[in-house]
Amino acid sequence: MTTPLTVLSAEDQVWLHGLVMIHMPARVTPEAMAGHGCLWCQAPMDTSSIDLAPGVNQWRSCAVCYLARLASAMTWRDWHTHTEACATCLQPEDCMVARGRRAQHERTLAALGEALRCTARCRLTIGTGDPAVPIIWEGEAASYPGYAHVSCLARSGREV
Ligand SMILES: [Zn+2]
Ligand SMILES: [Zn+2]
Ligand SMILES: [Zn+2]
Repeated sequence: MTTPLTVLSAEDQVWLHGLVMIHMPARVTPEAMAGHGCLWCQAPMDTSSIDLAPGVNQWRSCAVCYLARLASAMTWRDWHTHTEACATCLQPEDCMVARGRRAQHERTLAALGEALRCTARCRLTIGTGDPAVPIIWEGEAASYPGYAHVSCLARSGREV
């Protein structure tokens, strides 16, 4: 996969970087804290390493981890952008384009050892065949990309 970083606007890069940084590892090792190892895989750093928060902390990522996480952020956004604007998805009816975008996103998650999880209500893993949609949910400090079983979304309504 080639990285379409060069076709992203600066604003897009900032937004996608924000998505990448939402998914922090459960534990940050002292090496990663000091910028000597990748935040996610602890690989030693080299010239292709990426500074994650210059001026804020020393955290860095190896290129492999960063691009894998960027791909996941981009495919989530592609899927979400589509469902917001597609007449079929808004019905809501089964949409082949949405299915394709979801499948692409699920592949990037699988590469990270992750899966879709329902952030709307039940918090359970969303199976590949389960009807689900990408959603933005409001956390305490920010909005986060998430997912919802279609059935959970219907039941949760607009309750906070
Ligand atoms: Zn890494
Ligand atoms: Zn659609
Ligand atoms: Zn659910």
